[in-house]
Amino acid sequence: MKNSGEQKPLIRLSRSSIGETEIAAVSETVRRAALGMGAEVEAFEKELAQFIGGQRQVICVSTGTAALQLALQACGIGHGDEVLVPTLTFVASFQAVSATGATPVACDVLRDSGCLDPEDAARRITARTKAIMPVHYASGAGALKKIYELAGKPGLRVIEDAAHAFGGVHNGARVGATGDVICFSFDGIKNITSGEGGAVVTADATVANRIKDARLLGVEKDTEKRFSGQRSWEFDVTAQGWRYHMSNVFAALGRAQLRRLENEFAPRRAQLARQYVKLLANVPQLRHLNLNYGEIVPHIFPVFIGAGKRDAVREALRAENIESGIHYKPNHLLSFYGGGKVKLPVAEELYAQMLTLPLHFELTNAEQDRVVAVVRRCLAG
Ligand SMILES: *Cc1c(COP(=O)(O)O)cnc(C)c1O
Repeated sequence: MKNSGEQKPLIRLSRSSIGETEIAAVSETVRRAALGMGAEVEAFEKELAQFIGGQRQVICVSTGTAALQLALQACGIGHGDEVLVPTLTFVASFQAVSATGATPVACDVLRDSGCLDPEDAARRITARTKAIMPVHYASGAGALKKIYELAGKPGLRVIEDAAHAFGGVHNGARVGATGDVICFSFDGIKNITSGEGGAVVTADATVANRIKDARLLGVEKDTEKRFSGQRSWEFDVTAQGWRYHMSNVFAALGRAQLRRLENEFAPRRAQLARQYVKLLANVPQLRHLNLNYGEIVPHIFPVFIGAGKRDAVREALRAENIESGIHYKPNHLLSFYGGGKVKLPVAEELYAQMLTLPLHFELTNAEQDRVVAVVRRCLAG
């Protein structure tokens, strides 16, 4: 490593943007000592439902992973069941499935979107398959329509992992406004953050009610009590539950972030992605996803670098103190999920080529130019 005097300023891969409105909202909630699940969470759920549209119920929980797990369980998925999941996703998707006792079945992805390949998924349907979990990779919907068609015939549930896709529009409606059960994450680096947090969105009242109970240790109808500042003392429990509710403090942060999404976060993220597309045009050996930045709110900006040059680019960025990422190591290669016993050729090819470039609200144009200059220099001629 060079001495620190020569070190260029760090460019982060991703980060949250916390302003005075967030700090004020959190402080005010803490000052009131309104720490558990109560009115702030109720208000956040209402505002999310209004923002998403489509007459949906929104249930806020402690993390995006918890949202996925509770969504699966509320759909009756557990031991002995199989869930089809694209291998190219954060390990949270797989862990959420295995947490229910079900088996995540890794599927290959499409080369052009990184999203679940419906034909590969179709080949892996068995008598045990109960659900498909498409992932909105890099905020794109991929072949979502075909996934729903595939699920339709055998009557499979579709639980969308839309952790990357909050705030985006798909087919003229907000992500979450249509579809079966849609899960979002509000962790520290997502399109909006509540510190930690997640949400399930659905029009299915049975699923919604099960999740409301399950997030509070299975205590029946405890959500209504907590929203009116009360506790349940005489109650029944009829199913396994968890301590997965969201706290008011986190909801206060999430509400303040939601208010900044449309005018600040979404346009800036889309602008940076469009600018990457422009600045990286005609770079040999480099390709990026073809996404509609007029509709989506890009969470990450992965590029795919051929000719075995990915690691050289990664090293060159590191030497300039620029962070980059790998989204993701395919889950079927992880020991707990088979250790590479199945071969998923497209995902494995993408894995060898992928490199995620910095993208976040506070990334400046000058910083982006620095990133692009390094990539261009490495791949030129
Ligand atoms: C962030 C993320 C999750 C999990 O969300 P957490 O809030 O971190 O638990 C799940 N799936 C994908 C694709 C993610 O990026």
